[in-house]
Amino acid sequence: MSGIILHPEYGLNPTIIRAMCPVCGKEFETNELALLGRNKGRKADMYTTTHYDLCPEHKKLNDDGYIALVGVDSRKSTYEPDGNLKLEGAYRTGKLAHIRRTVFKDMFGSECPNIPMIFVDSDISDKLEIMQREQEIT
Ligand SMILES: [Zn+2]
Repeated sequence: MSGIILHPEYGLNPTIIRAMCPVCGKEFETNELALLGRNKGRKADMYTTTHYDLCPEHKKLNDDGYIALVGVDSRKSTYEPDGNLKLEGAYRTGKLAHIRRTVFKDMFGSECPNIPMIFVDSDISDKLEIMQREQEIT
């Protein structure tokens, strides 16, 4: 392992690592530091977002057996050539619902994928939001 080359002005040149939650899109600190030394060529930013990870709130829901349904506008989203929708191409509507993995198949007719979230078109997320609201009332 080679050593870090110190920046002549900023030394270790630390930056606080952040992750972005793929469910809600919020950035949060991961309690990690990166020492950029001279790599950055300039003073490191206070925060650097380096990867996707579930925020504490959505990690708990995932651990408790829920899958997140993230509403997107399919007409405004950018799809990959294979038809998949990546995080960067998703045009989020702000609609978000969580359902138990155990009822996923009853609702969608397919096995629940082993991932923390899926994108759903805004029409579906509107209906789910109404259903979720009705469940909270009863
Ligand atoms: Zn989140």
